[in-house]
Amino acid sequence: MNEAFITYLDSTHIPYEKNVDLKKRTWIHRGGIAGLWITPTSTEQLQQLCSNLYKQGREFKIIGQTSNLYFDNSYNPEIIICTTKLNVFSVTSNSIECECGVPVKTLAKYAVENGISGFEGLVDLPGTIAAATFNNSGCYNCQVSSLLKYVEFLSSNGEIKKLTPADLNYAERTSALKRREIRGVILKVILSYTLTDNADLLIQTARNNHAHRIQFQERPAQTLGSIFPNGVLRAFEMNLPRFSKICLKFIYKAHQLKLITYSRQQKSKRDIICLLNGMWGIHKYISPKNFNCFIWKDANADKAFNTYCTFVQQIAHTKKIEIEVIKASENEIIQQD
Ligand SMILES: Cc1cc2nc3c(=O)[nH]c(=O)nc-3n(C[C@H](O)[C@H](O)[C@H](O)COP(=O)(O)OP(=O)(O)OC[C@H]3O[C@@H](n4cnc5c(N)ncnc54)[C@H](O)[C@@H]3O)c2cc1C
Repeated sequence: MNEAFITYLDSTHIPYEKNVDLKKRTWIHRGGIAGLWITPTSTEQLQQLCSNLYKQGREFKIIGQTSNLYFDNSYNPEIIICTTKLNVFSVTSNSIECECGVPVKTLAKYAVENGISGFEGLVDLPGTIAAATFNNSGCYNCQVSSLLKYVEFLSSNGEIKKLTPADLNYAERTSALKRREIRGVILKVILSYTLTDNADLLIQTARNNHAHRIQFQERPAQTLGSIFPNGVLRAFEMNLPRFSKICLKFIYKAHQLKLITYSRQQKSKRDIICLLNGMWGIHKYISPKNFNCFIWKDANADKAFNTYCTFVQQIAHTKKIEIEVIKASENEIIQQD
């Protein structure tokens, strides 16, 4: 590790740890060893730190809660910057100003309790607000991108600017940042808000969304939410071998006729696809609630994930994936868009 850089961190009082095992820090307990794990405690520290690293041309990875990141165990980054200590937000008469590491859940809870609409679907969305603007995250009819006024952004050439939703060029679960068309660090996120005159309805909607997520989605531990964009799963189902498609039609019909529940339909769907396509060996890693959700339940999950990913992508004829997979020292990022 570069001693001058350590001296810089010490002199600017930016907290850091050396040789951190990423398995103990990441959402799904994966990754190798990070040479430095740095946790700025103010936006000024984050800005100075990243400007310094950009000037030196040094590689680093900025992360929030890692709820959309799959670090391979071979990934040993030199520098990780974690934003979770930057978790303060303030509300003005026409906007909400957030440090980049504010948890979306905290923000959504505040909004729902204070009659602010547009957040009632986000009450269980894991992750930080900056990552949500990076990923174009959303659920239950609420998108962070539709609440966004602009982000305060440090670009990789050291320039600080405002990026609007138009600059971020959003598409389904992606942005110009995620596609690497723009490079840099989100320092702050500024959101617009609208007050509702029916606060009770907002609270009820949030409760319904919460109950729906608990019933129909996998528990957050050991998963990264959806692995593929919805379009990929649609293409996958359309291109499945004929006999698999006939069986799936049969169980969809059974659900339509109320002969089986939605949960039973989802589990049968997973089992049929795996059984008929030589994938039974990995079926236990795929959520019985949702074929698009993978569970890193044990040490063999990584091998099973490769099989699952190749299987879906080959049948769907695409390399697209919604989560970010980062491998080995060369920081190879598997195709995202
Ligand atoms: C159980 C579960 C359910 C989920 N459900 C949904 C869902 O319903 N809808 C949905 O959209 N997503 C869902 N997700 C995915 C995840 O919640 C989102 O992608 C979230 O926005 C990731 O936030 P994070 O802080 O964990 O980001 P991370 O995974 O830490 O980072 C994601 C990306 O953002 C970048 N990034 C982070 N901070 C900054 C910054 N300050 N500046 C620049 N780049 C930055 C990182 O470099 C990385 O490339 C789910 C995940 C889980 C685990």
